[in-house]
Amino acid sequence: MTQTVLTKYIKKHIEQHGPLGIDQYMNICLCHPEHGYYMKKDPFGKEGDFTTAPEISQLFGDMIGLWVLDQYNKLGRPEFIELIECGPGRGTLMSDIARIASQDEAFASAVKVRFVEMSPTLKKAQELAMSYRETIECAWHESFTDIAPKHPVIIIANEFFDALPLKQFIFVKNKWHQRVVGLNAENKLELGLEPADYIEAVVKKYHKTPPESLNIFEYAPLRDEIAKQFAGVISENKGAALIIDYGFNGAFYGDTFQALIGHQYCKILEHCGDADLTSHVNFHMLHQSMKDVSDSLVFEIATQGSFLSQLGVNIWYEKLVENNKLSDEQQALLSSGLHRLIDDDKMGELFKVLSVTNYKKN
Ligand code: SAH
Repeated sequence: MTQTVLTKYIKKHIEQHGPLGIDQYMNICLCHPEHGYYMKKDPFGKEGDFTTAPEISQLFGDMIGLWVLDQYNKLGRPEFIELIECGPGRGTLMSDIARIASQDEAFASAVKVRFVEMSPTLKKAQELAMSYRETIECAWHESFTDIAPKHPVIIIANEFFDALPLKQFIFVKNKWHQRVVGLNAENKLELGLEPADYIEAVVKKYHKTPPESLNIFEYAPLRDEIAKQFAGVISENKGAALIIDYGFNGAFYGDTFQALIGHQYCKILEHCGDADLTSHVNFHMLHQSMKDVSDSLVFEIATQGSFLSQLGVNIWYEKLVENNKLSDEQQALLSSGLHRLIDDDKMGELFKVLSVTNYKKN
């Protein structure tokens, strides 16, 4: 198998500095300034590696647009509102949100859109998507901490947290070990273990019962950190956050680290920089981290299917069909999109939605 440029880079890095944690490996593969997965390509859609909810159907962005307007109203229709999206991909979701929500004129003049994106390639795609919503003020930032919002905020993160680096720990011979990427005798990338007693305290925070042999504990410090930053901003400025991703809510041991190329799963140590690397999001941990920041925040967690249904996605679908006199083909497409988003055996159950609000007067 031919090696990617990034495989050679990673091997050299390991030769010089020793094995990499899974999180460091993931960070290089996804974010290397030149050869990182997100830095060099647009991974979305049929031609890419995966398809996200906003790319499946406008029904998704329409519903999130209605949710955003609802938050704006509950916040008392402030003079200015900062609408922040982390990891906006092609900008499709924000473009749909802006189309729906800016039908409320006061919202359209109050809103300042802030994108958090580190990929120059995807930033260009987002600029293009927003060029159709030219009255909306937009700005781009490489990280959430660069923003420093001055007004109430609404934060959106769809399939952002799964892309953040993850550490894995395995319980072997009564001790915790970190999973690392090293080199074997044939100079090939190989998974290995390093002692990691220090993680025990973190495991205990999330698991009441002791681990069994070969249990895997996944922990993503950057996710915790960003979730805490969201919580901090919402409790200081008032506002809301919506985190949507594939994952689970509860204590869980297991390996969810995965690699995807051209809509197919592949080995995590192959196709460095050409395959998408992600893992399932532990919503229980995100919730816990945000709660640690402030007690005044209100949390709700739902499946994507029930969240969209509660917002009225079925009625919205019927209205779109009725009002736009869709052809049979267009209607079939919209209908299959609806089912992919909400059915339990598609995205409906696997994807979770965590909404966090703080409408309290300061
Ligand atoms: N929300 C979009 C795209 C999800 S893909 C959608 O639903 O279609 C993940 C997105 O997060 C991409 O835009 C990627 O460039 C961005 N991203 C990944 N890691 C990031 C990081 N550490 N900082 C900022 N953006 C990041």
